[in-house]
Parts: sequence; structure tokens; C-alpha cells
Amino acid sequence: MSTADSPTDLMERIVALCKRRGFIFPSSEIYGGFNGFFDYGPLGAELKKNIRDCWWNDMVRRRDDIVGLESSIIMHPKVWEASGHVAGFTDPLVDCKVSKQRYRADQLFFAAVVVDGKTVGYVSALESERTAEELQAAAENFKRKKAIQGKIEPVQPHDMTEAKPEEIPLIPSPATGEPGSLTPPRSFNMMFQTNVGAMTDGSSVAYLRPETAQGMFVDFKNVVDTGRVKLPFGIAQIGKSFRNEITPRNFIFRSREFEQMEMEYFIHEDADWAKCHQEWIAWCQAWLLSIGLPESHLSLYAHPKEKLAFYSKGTVDIMFKYPFGVQELWGIAARGNYDLTQHATASGKPMEHFDEATKKKFVPHVIEPAVGVDRILLAVLCAAYAEEDVKDEKGNVEKRTVLRFSPRLAPIKVAVLPLIKNKPELVDVAEKLYRKLKRKWNVFYDETGNIGKRYRRQDEAGTPWCVTIDFETIEKDGTFTLRERDTMQQKRITEAELFALLEEKVY
Ligand code: ATP
Repeated sequence: MSTADSPTDLMERIVALCKRRGFIFPSSEIYGGFNGFFDYGPLGAELKKNIRDCWWNDMVRRRDDIVGLESSIIMHPKVWEASGHVAGFTDPLVDCKVSKQRYRADQLFFAAVVVDGKTVGYVSALESERTAEELQAAAENFKRKKAIQGKIEPVQPHDMTEAKPEEIPLIPSPATGEPGSLTPPRSFNMMFQTNVGAMTDGSSVAYLRPETAQGMFVDFKNVVDTGRVKLPFGIAQIGKSFRNEITPRNFIFRSREFEQMEMEYFIHEDADWAKCHQEWIAWCQAWLLSIGLPESHLSLYAHPKEKLAFYSKGTVDIMFKYPFGVQELWGIAARGNYDLTQHATASGKPMEHFDEATKKKFVPHVIEPAVGVDRILLAVLCAAYAEEDVKDEKGNVEKRTVLRFSPRLAPIKVAVLPLIKNKPELVDVAEKLYRKLKRKWNVFYDETGNIGKRYRRQDEAGTPWCVTIDFETIEKDGTFTLRERDTMQQKRITEAELFALLEEKVY
């Protein structure tokens, strides 16, 4: 198997395929696009829905201890004061006064150029897989250009949050290459503001939610009082979240409007939270494997104690190896009872649970697995994408692009193909089968082009199976040719066997 050459190249090919085949388009493209926003086309919408459905079925419907919720996107502004988002949901921002570019300070790196033990200048680079190498090359270039003699030392990269005040004017802007235009980092709140009602003064300010999690905390009592739940139990939600990211990037990896799947698992204050945390990490890993992500691309990152919020007991991220680097896919946090306590204090409404055994009231603790649908979708696309050299019917070598989606996620489960379109007996059987399959699964009917071309089109869409209705079907035993996407092998199959295969693989 051969895939594209460099990681950038690979990402470009994936983005191009997404556009070409109708998975993902830039939002408002006819107006030049809108940075950080995307639209999902016909295949993308199906793929995304399948990710959501798999998660919802496995997380909520197939478990006895988790219930679902759909809370509103715009909530009372006091929610975000109590949760700490108004004061603290910020990223450090650096402006370039000349180019008007904005950077996240923790993604903008710099290094001193040190020659014979003396700092002779500074270089900068935006965070990438190769930040250190880029800074080293820039430092050597700087020395050469300024014709400085002596031995250059290896660079020590730092991000802009670590820059000393006296260093800031000396660090070049990545946009202009010249020092003097970067501002010191300042806090930038990432919540999108809006106004509710006819007034647009301070009293009408509200926010688009930056996470779905607060809905579960705010509705905790409602669910306990109506949902017949007993500790430990979870509340899960899927929905849109909005963050005014300073530098949206890497396609849909970091966008300004995205979708989250979050679950708050409430446990007794005396429960073994570390064990429960581990169990949820294992559950999330197993779920990612069940939707076809390769184990080799997954790893764990435990946040160091000193970087955790004061209330946090521990956070572990499941990382995925994207073409642009190993990045956070799913965060699993042990948040103590911070959130419920904050809302109890701010609203004056108790958020306690009554323990029948000890006859004591307490505020439950929580474990929170939080993941982005779009990040899963991108991981799935990257892992599924392959380019291969294969032989066509005449034995000529040609390239095939294939998306090896798991049948659970594939946007189209089966393509139904009558061998030729001007033979009514074939078309009739094919259409009947297509209508029958369509009642349960998303299937596709295609009668145009030679059969090899039609297979290729389905390979690119990630369709696991093609069913061809041919002369054997109508003249012999009613069986079809089943062509398997990954092996490209073909075999005869009955209608009952086809339905059984789908029932087993698509769940
Ligand atoms: P990051 O450090 O990458 O900004 P985070 O730690 O702020 O992410 P959380 O607040 O824990 O993320 O959000 C939970 C999940 O939501 C993340 O693991 C990710 O999958 C998803 N997510 C967060 N921000 C974005 C975004 N801007 N675009 C797409 N998905 C996102």
C-alpha cells in the first residue's frame, strides 16, 4: 500500500477528497469561506450521523446506568459565571501590530540565537511537528545573513507565554520576519457573545455555549427527580458548541463551531474515583477501536499535576496520530464535585444526593469523558484513507483511492449495481433489492459506467460492499456478486446472506 508522501501532502489529499466527494466543504464558500466554520455534504452528514448514533447507542441505549439529555445552546448567563467560563475561559493572545495577525501565545515559539555564549538576536516559528528544527534553521540563517562569526549553540524553544518583558520587542513576528511588532500576551475570552431580546445593553448579554457539559450539571436535579436514576449514573449529551478560537486550523480539527459528545458520570463522594476514571479511559479506548481506529494511532497523555485546575483530581487525554502530529482526541477528567457545588452556591438550589445507607446528604463527584465529533470524524478519515496500485480488468496498473471505513461508520453500506442498464430484467431485480435494503440502511444505486469504474467510485466513498446483479442472478439461482472493498474479492451471495452480513457488521 502506498499513501501520500509528506504529512502536509497527505492532509491536502484528504481535504481535496472531502471536497470532491461531498464529505466536507468550507462554510459559505460562494462568499469566500468563513474561517473556522465548515459544512458537511451528503457523505459527510451520513458519516457524522453514524458516529453520533454509534456513540449514543453504545453510551446511552445499551447501558442501564446512563440517560440522555438535550439542553439549550443559549443558557442563562449566570451558568457561565458559576462555571468559571466568564472569568477564565481564555486563551493567551499575541497581536502583530503591523500585519494585524493574531496568534495564540502558546502556539507561537521563539528562541534566542546564541553565538559564542552571547545572545545576538531572536527567531520565531509557529507550532508544528518540526518547531525545534525550524527555529534551529532560522537561527543559522540569521547568523549567516548578519555575517556573525563564531559557534552557534543549539536553540532552546519557548512559547510566547514564557517570554520575558524585555524579550518581546526583540522577537520577530512570523508574519513580517521583523522584531518590534508583537504585543505581550493578553487573555482573550473564547465565548461567543450575543444579545437576547430587543435590548442590546449589558443586561441582555448571553453566550453560545462553549461546551455541552454545563447542561448536565444545571439539569442534574431535574434528572434525579424524574429519571429513576441511582448512583453511580451518567447523563450524556450530543450537541453543538462554539469557541472563538484565535487560530482555527488543521481543517476540522480546531474549528469555531463544532459538535461535542460529553457524558457526566456521577459517583458517591467516597467512591474510588481513580478506579472509575481508569474504567472510563478503557471504555473510551475500546469504543474508538470498535469504530475502526487503529490501536497503533492511539496513545494516552496524563496531564501533569501542576497544570491541572485546582479542583481537578486528574485528566487523561486519548491522543490520536493525525498527519499533522499527535493531538488530543478525547479528554477524560475527574472533576471532583466542583461543578455541582458551584451551581448550588450560585443558584441557591441544593445539588445534594441522599445516601439511604448512611442517611447523609452529599454532593456527588463526577468523571467526564468529553470528545468532539468532528475530531473523531477527522481521525476516522485519516486512518481510513489509502492510495494503492491495483490492476484493472485488462491487467493494467492503476491507482485506486480507498476509504477503509468500518461498516459501522461507512456513509453508504452497500452499492447496488445492475451489470448493464438496458436489460430490464436486471434493472428490475436490482431496484427491488435496493428498495428493500433502503428501509434499514443507507444504500446507493448506480447503473452508469463500466462496473470497474463503479467499484472505484464506491471505494472512494468508503462503501464496504458492492452487490452486482448479473446474468447469473436472473438466469440461475438469484444470487448476486458481492464485491468486498478492502480485499476486492468477489463471491456469490444470496439475499438472506446479504441481510445477515449487514445485521452482523452494522450495529
Ligand atoms: P484543546 O486543548 O485542543 O483546545 P480542550 O482541552 O480545550 O481542547 P475540552 O474543553 O476538553 O478541549 O473539550 C472536549 C473535546 O471537545 C476535545 O477533546 C475535542 O475533541 C473537542 N474540541 C474542543 N475544542 C474544539 C474545537 N475548537 N474544534 C473541534 N473540536 C474541539
